[in-house]
Amino acid sequence: MVRIPDSHPRKKSLESRQKIVDGSSMGLLADSAMIAHGRGEAFDYLLGERTTESAREAIRESAARLGNARRPVISVNGNTTVLAGDGAIRLAAVLGCPIEVNLYYRTPSRVKGLISLLEELRLNVSQEAAPDGFYGDWKETVEGVSLLGESPNFKIEGLEGPRSNCTAEGIGGADTILVPLEDGDRCEALITLGKEVLVVDLNPLSRSARMASVTIVDEVSRAFEGILSCLLNDSEYRQAEWDNLKSLNGSLKEISNHFSV
Ligand code: ATP
Repeated sequence: MVRIPDSHPRKKSLESRQKIVDGSSMGLLADSAMIAHGRGEAFDYLLGERTTESAREAIRESAARLGNARRPVISVNGNTTVLAGDGAIRLAAVLGCPIEVNLYYRTPSRVKGLISLLEELRLNVSQEAAPDGFYGDWKETVEGVSLLGESPNFKIEGLEGPRSNCTAEGIGGADTILVPLEDGDRCEALITLGKEVLVVDLNPLSRSARMASVTIVDEVSRAFEGILSCLLNDSEYRQAEWDNLKSLNGSLKEISNHFSV
């Protein structure tokens, strides 16, 4: 892997790009993964590669909804696992919820490969120091995170083909789903089933962004860090009446303000 000097102003972005390249060559990602990443990068560039004010509000709201959920789950695809699998493990540990690998272009070998990667990340995260604000046995809590998706036993109504497959213990039975980089159709089907759908998507114009209960317009690893910090250190915040389209308009304004001359 090419070493990017610390002084490079876009080091984080280049490292993420490399993770996608490596994930692809390991056979963990669909062919279209780089296209999806490229679209995300373009929007992140427009947003100034930072968590904007409207994203911060959506992060707080999502943390509150996850904290109040009866059966939350984190649904991850290939890109999310490769870019922010460790962040997903930390969040699942704090929420006491499972992570489900759920792929649009599902193949058994990719699901297996992504679960193996998550197992490796779970081991690494269990050996880290507990995050600020966490009280308890971090190692044991992290080791208890269950990783689902290998044996689907439930179908998301309203979707055809393999993309409808999921597990009853995870997405099927969940009331609240944190689902980064989701496809618009599946987001709509989950909303129709009455689930609370919290999306992370850098494109405020995507169908998923517009369909979701709450959309965090931010890069997935930054969004996960933000939610974790809210869960552990911002317990005063209460779930609010949420106008998601207003929040998306806020993101669009932040893009245009960032670049106005
Ligand atoms: P939709 O059906 O919702 O309109 P789409 O077809 O435009 O979705 P996909 O290709 O399914 O989009 O998914 C990629 C989405 O994920 C894009 O909207 C892209 O902006 C977003 N994305 C890509 N990388 C990241 C990332 N690292 N963090 C957050 N969002 C990302």
